[in-house]
Amino acid sequence: MSMIFDVIVIGGGPGGYVAAIRASQLGLKTACIDDWKNSNAAPALGGTCTNVGCIPSKALLQSSEYFDNVSTSFQSHGIEVEGLKLNLDKMLSRKRNVVKQNNDGIVYLFKKNKVSFFHGKGSFTEKQDQTFHISVLGKEKLTLNAKNVIIATGSKPRHLPNIQFDEKLILSNSGALNMNSVPKKLGVIGAGVIGLEMGSVWKRLGSDVVILEALPEFLSAVDYQIAKEAFRFFSDQGLMINMGVKIEEIKAKKDVKVSFFDKDGSKHNLSFDRLIVSVGRVPNTEGLEIEKINLELDDNGFIKVDDKCRTNIQNVWAIGDVVRGPMLAHKAEDEGVCVAEQIVGQHSHVDLNIIPWVIYTFPEIAWVGKNEQQLKSDGINFKSGTFPFMANGRARAIGETKGMVKVLADAKTDEILGIHIVGPMASELIAEAVVAMEFKASSEDIARICHAHPSLSEATKEAALAVNEKALNF
Ligand code: FAD
Repeated sequence: MSMIFDVIVIGGGPGGYVAAIRASQLGLKTACIDDWKNSNAAPALGGTCTNVGCIPSKALLQSSEYFDNVSTSFQSHGIEVEGLKLNLDKMLSRKRNVVKQNNDGIVYLFKKNKVSFFHGKGSFTEKQDQTFHISVLGKEKLTLNAKNVIIATGSKPRHLPNIQFDEKLILSNSGALNMNSVPKKLGVIGAGVIGLEMGSVWKRLGSDVVILEALPEFLSAVDYQIAKEAFRFFSDQGLMINMGVKIEEIKAKKDVKVSFFDKDGSKHNLSFDRLIVSVGRVPNTEGLEIEKINLELDDNGFIKVDDKCRTNIQNVWAIGDVVRGPMLAHKAEDEGVCVAEQIVGQHSHVDLNIIPWVIYTFPEIAWVGKNEQQLKSDGINFKSGTFPFMANGRARAIGETKGMVKVLADAKTDEILGIHIVGPMASELIAEAVVAMEFKASSEDIARICHAHPSLSEATKEAALAVNEKALNF
């Protein structure tokens, strides 16, 4: 069976499914191929993000935070609970339901937007007369044809050399989100976003968590002042974070034995019930057969694209985790929209400098734009304003006063160059910063905008005021 489309999207994660919907909205006959299978071997649209990434991790972060709150912060509100018990099965089943709602939501959106969905592995077979032939290997074998192809095949977890994931003792993100009991001792290799989020979930549920990180500096991509605060908060919570370690050996049998050298060169041997390995992700081009169309990869295995997501082959585009730039769902989505719009001749673009980053720990960390160390190394003169949540009325009322907002602005023009937050609801607060930067706002713009009282967003206004030493409440 052979079918002709205007656009074929390979991959149904946030990049691919959004690209397919926008292409169809723009009047293009669109197909989306995705090979993800759930535990019943059924299709599960949404890719890494929906199935084993953003969505299930945030479901478990929320559940574990509620659980932790009962024994930590509730007492200060005058709420005393006796007999607190964890029902992990129920927590995991809720997480699975949240995932399924999202899977089903995309199926509904595809129907509504008339996107044809094919479940199976997509691969290039050949190009003839400006038409690409893509084979889909699912329950049956099909060939789809189209003039435009968008590759959105995402990424997969990086494993350590010679240490494969078995998802029982050595866990990737998939296993880390699916443990059926709380490990007494949990090791995490990698103190990046995923390591910190997964470490936080299981720490709150009762594990002793030790995080081992090779880099000497904690969260080196984060503004150093914010990272320093965060390190202190996480250490106070009992996450044992060891920086600058060198792993010597990992042996997994009944448990996992890890020997490593600490930053001072002393050797340690630790045993864990389970070990999460979160040392980054690698682009996924497996099985695409890109050599059939001579598609180029860069030295790190990402599909080579320009700033418009164009590959070296005309009318083949690539977006999301499989190309350069932040591995974030919203970046993938924006690139999907951008490419669909370019296919119909519109002039869309994605500014990779104004992509918000969030780490959903407690408190959350969020930022957009440049941090202080980057501005210094770029030789840019800047002014800085900070405001602690301790001085914010809403933060005091909800009892979440840890952290601060930091605004960095150009010393001469006052244009905002970066906003960095560690504190309650940083993931929501950062949206104002992104809008401000997209509109090239100055710190004075934010400082003069009326912010509701009492609200956490007043901390952003106050930090903006502080840039010009005009903070009112601190
Ligand atoms: P993916 O989501 O990886 O989707 C690719 C899809 O393509 C998959 O379904 C795959 O099976 C399919 N596919 C691959 N090859 C083929 C083929 N040949 N044929 C057919 N189908 C194919 N990002 C955030 O922004 N916020 C977060 O809070 C966040 N949390 C995360 C938590 C964890 C634990 C992890 C692992 C990631 C998290 N991310 C988060 C990152 C986010 O999940 C990715 O950036 C995002 O999923 C990338 O989207 P994508 O569309 O490029 O690829």
